[in-house]
Amino acid sequence: MAQFAVIGLGRFGGSASLELMSLGHQVIGLDSCEKFVARVADKLSYAAIIDATDEDALRELNIGQCDAVLVAIGENLEASILCVLHLKNLGINNIWVKASSKSHHSILSKLGVSRIIHPEEEMGIRVAQALNYPMVNQYMALGHNIYLVEIEIIEKLQGQTLAQLLKDASAFVHGFLVKRRKDVFSPVPADFVLEAHDTLVLAGPLTVLKSLAPRLI
Ligand code: ADP
Repeated sequence: MAQFAVIGLGRFGGSASLELMSLGHQVIGLDSCEKFVARVADKLSYAAIIDATDEDALRELNIGQCDAVLVAIGENLEASILCVLHLKNLGINNIWVKASSKSHHSILSKLGVSRIIHPEEEMGIRVAQALNYPMVNQYMALGHNIYLVEIEIIEKLQGQTLAQLLKDASAFVHGFLVKRRKDVFSPVPADFVLEAHDTLVLAGPLTVLKSLAPRLI
């Protein structure tokens, strides 16, 4: 279990803090507006109304003990940047910040935070990918153009082995795991027989995974 602080409990910060709680972590939620604190207060480990541009207030809350801090102050550029500076003064190394504009991004990258998040852009790309590849439930970029993708096996692929499904792509793409109801099979050998509604996770270069798409629908 890790301890996180989420500063700014709007739609983004609020849902991130609740999800961290449901993943079993401790979460301190902070917002300058009472209404936003009240909405999640009884669901978080601790919640308080504070102005995150006040370094003393952050120090009193022992924010320095947290494993990571997510700054989700929306459009208020000045408050977001001041807050990041205070967190750095408090010795926090793992700071994730939601950016609201290009200039916000440039300043944050100069300040050197761990991760700059652009929720609208990131979500927009995800939605476009989901529309383009409706068979892909989830995907994860592992770097160097290698992706993990999760697909659901449709009825017409029932009874095919992994090798039959992948054909030539099997030189580059690996069956990482199959989830069948409560069972998990990993790794997935070439002669593994797939069933309809199996969840198959494949790993490989994006270009090769894309070339498989027509076979999966
Ligand atoms: P979204 O809902 O898209 O996540 P918002 O801009 O609505 O983004 O939410 C930003 C949150 O940050 C609001 O709840 C706001 O009250 C909070 N906030 C803004 N300035 C400060 C500040 N100085 N200290 C703490 N919280 C702040």
